[in-house]
Amino acid sequence: MSEQIIPHAWPPGNSEMGVAIRHIDWSLTALGPVDAWPASLRTAVSAALDSSWPTIILWGPELIQIYNDAYREILSLRHPAAMGQRTQECWPEVWHFNEPIYRRILSTGECVHFEDQPYVIEPSGYSETRYFTLDYSPARDESGAICGIRVTAMETTRKVLAEREIKTLLNAAQSSVDQLQQIFDEAPSFMALLKGPEHIFEIVNAAYRLLLPDCAVIGKTVAEVVPETECQDFLKQLDAVYATGKPYNATHIPAYLKKSPGAPATRIYLNIAYQPIKDAEGRVFSIFVLGNDVTAQCLAQIELARLNQELTDEVQQVVLAREAARIANERWELAIESSGGGVWDWDIRSDKVLYSARMAEILGYAEDEFDSTLEAWKSRLHPDDRERVLEALQNCLAAIIPSFHAEYRIRNKNGNYIWVASHGIVVERDTDYRAVRATGMMSDITQHKHTEQEQWNQANSDTLTGLPNRRLFRNRLDHAVKTAARSNSILALLFIDLDRFKEANDLLGHDVGDMLLIEAATRISVCVRQTDTVARLGGDEFTVILTNVDVTEHIEHIAQKIIDAIAQPFYLGNEVVYLSASIGITLYSEYANSSEELIKNADQAMYAAKNAGRNRFSYFTRIMQEAAEQRLRLGGDLRHALARNQIEVFYQPVVDLKNGQIVKAEALARWHHPILGMIEPTVFIPIAEETGQIKSIGDWVFKHAADCSKRWGQQLGCVFQIAVNKSPAQFLSHADATAWARHLHGIGLTGSSIVIEITEGLLLHTSPVVAAKLSVFRDCGMQLALDDFGTGYSSMSYLQKFDIDYLKIDQSFVAGITGNEADRAIAESIIVMAHRLGLQVIAEGIETPEQQALLIAAGCDYGQGFLFSQAVPADDFGRILMENMIPA
Ligand code: C2E
Ligand code: MG
Ligand code: MG
Repeated sequence: MSEQIIPHAWPPGNSEMGVAIRHIDWSLTALGPVDAWPASLRTAVSAALDSSWPTIILWGPELIQIYNDAYREILSLRHPAAMGQRTQECWPEVWHFNEPIYRRILSTGECVHFEDQPYVIEPSGYSETRYFTLDYSPARDESGAICGIRVTAMETTRKVLAEREIKTLLNAAQSSVDQLQQIFDEAPSFMALLKGPEHIFEIVNAAYRLLLPDCAVIGKTVAEVVPETECQDFLKQLDAVYATGKPYNATHIPAYLKKSPGAPATRIYLNIAYQPIKDAEGRVFSIFVLGNDVTAQCLAQIELARLNQELTDEVQQVVLAREAARIANERWELAIESSGGGVWDWDIRSDKVLYSARMAEILGYAEDEFDSTLEAWKSRLHPDDRERVLEALQNCLAAIIPSFHAEYRIRNKNGNYIWVASHGIVVERDTDYRAVRATGMMSDITQHKHTEQEQWNQANSDTLTGLPNRRLFRNRLDHAVKTAARSNSILALLFIDLDRFKEANDLLGHDVGDMLLIEAATRISVCVRQTDTVARLGGDEFTVILTNVDVTEHIEHIAQKIIDAIAQPFYLGNEVVYLSASIGITLYSEYANSSEELIKNADQAMYAAKNAGRNRFSYFTRIMQEAAEQRLRLGGDLRHALARNQIEVFYQPVVDLKNGQIVKAEALARWHHPILGMIEPTVFIPIAEETGQIKSIGDWVFKHAADCSKRWGQQLGCVFQIAVNKSPAQFLSHADATAWARHLHGIGLTGSSIVIEITEGLLLHTSPVVAAKLSVFRDCGMQLALDDFGTGYSSMSYLQKFDIDYLKIDQSFVAGITGNEADRAIAESIIVMAHRLGLQVIAEGIETPEQQALLIAAGCDYGQGFLFSQAVPADDFGRILMENMIPA
């Protein structure tokens, strides 16, 4: 601050001098008498005294003080102590502090400004601190040289104190703002201040933050932060509050909020208040939002409401159900009585039962003679049903089952048991849910039960013997297998086949056969315990299931008992029939774990018993098992045998016994197994029959034979007949019987090139289909040979009936022909009989010249056997044939 020194007339008059310094005896001051003052001092003093601003002049190098009244007043200086004195003497502490400043101003002429300098002042005996703003500037004489320092002062005590107070107030205000912020932040309610019509988040408390996505929200609009609210009412309400200035309050408002844009919306319930904040003119510029998350309460209320509703519904349902039950009860009684059933009503507490008249009638009583107590009813129950029925009733009373239903036998007045069906429900319960009253009906189902039993018997028992049939046998076996598996006990299955039953049946007629079967069934049944199952599977096949067997001796004992029983003569009218039984036995779980395996094993064991000479039992053994497995494997391999060229046809010559010439051949199949080598037809033909592959193999053998017949016929210049075996299984297929004839025709052969060899079994079980097929062969010129004659039923009647051309005596007779009289007699009589019937005879299996000689002597036409040649490959046979033709 620079101040002009105003030129003043000097010496100043009293009027011009400040009051405070008028009385000053200047001569006593360091300045000396006024008259001696230099002009510049006078000007300075005059200027200081003239200034209305508190001013002090520090004159000359000694800095002698000259100040005006205003200066003296504001500093409360004791008059006149300091006037005209040196600063360093009267205010040493000021001097000490200010001296460097004074020196600087005097040397440099710069101005110095002090703001709000504190001074401790003692205006009235006690000290106080006052504040001053001080401006130091150089004072100059006429020549402009610095002759002192001019200081003007302005007291700022009030300002400083005011400022201080403001600051304190501000500090206090700030801390209360902080407090408010803390309260705001810690408040469980959510709060926010939304600025402007866009509702920009200005302040948001922690509770509110929890509702919002985890991103910065301050400065963003509500629509930006929670876009999902756009389609909800919140924004609309905020707009309305902003536009109208009216606050908005709402409770239990559902809100759908997302924590992030892709996240699923969570439904919460809120209580909300929007308070508009207005400026002095009443315009809204912000909205204060206050709210609470009341989801838990809301959900609880909703759940409560739902439970209440459910309860109300349930109560209503009970009322309705009671009413419905009452109506139903009446209708029901009416309906039951009209349908022939009787009604009962049981008061459980008094244990009294009311029965309708019809109930008494069903049991054969008149209404008044009927003992209607529960005990009487219980005593009439069949002992076998009693426990079951009472348990069902008890379960119904205990509400374990909703209603009582039972079919049981009850004794009527005559003492006979009748079947009844009874239904009932508990119609009343006490507060502890104990049954108080039950009502029900009972109807007579005796007739129905008998019909049912009959139907069951029909479905499950063999009509001839009354034994369980195949179906029931399977059920019982399945059950027995499960029980044995559980209890680890022995289960035995016996397969019984009556030996030579078929002959007896054929010989004596079906009626006798039926009687035999009935008697056999009885005899088998008495050999086993009541708990064991004897079943008839059909024909002469029976089975026995022995359960809980302790030792295998027991099984053998039973099997032997059955064999002995069957071996006893059967006296049927005038006839006495002798039978025997072959029994196959298998054990669970020795080789079998399922019903199927047990049946298969027992069947195989039974065949083993038969093969071993009949009238015996045989166990299923590991060898049988292995053979069965081998058959299974071979069946699989056989499937590819034709395609892989593993089947070959060998030919065995048939010789005219009169001249030793080869006149025919028999085609015999061979299988070259890649691992097992050559497999005989006795092994693989039965497998081919079982697996259905016999058809393709048989056709292939036939074609091969036809080709050879053609080739060798051409070489010989005449028809060369080849015999082809055809098993019964080949007759069962639906294939066209003319196919072979057409094939012959196709390659330019006549039917006479082929002889078809069949077995007796085919003729025994002959059917119209088989007969028709045989006649097709005959019609196209093929001949028929009956193979293995003598081993089967050997019935001469077939020979004529089917117009057989050749009879082949089985090799077992030929083998015995030289040593066994009986065999020779049989062979001879076969030959004689065959010739009489117009058939030619071929003897199989001639191995020795003796056999040959005897057969020639008996008049046998042809011979076949190793004596002449084994069956050989086609090429070998061709050679043998040509050599044989060369005349010896
Ligand atoms: P089979 O029709 O009775 O054939 C005669 C069997 O006796 C042949 O056995 C033959 O090799 C054998 N044999 C011939 N002479 C003698 C002899 O002096 N001593 C002995 N011990 N045996 C002799 P193979 O070839 O093993 O055939 C067995 C059976 O297989 C045949 O008996 C026949 O029933 C059947 N079979 C063979 N090939 C076929 C075929 O292609 N189709 C059908 N369905 N069955 C065939
Ligand atoms: Mg044969
Ligand atoms: Mg034979």
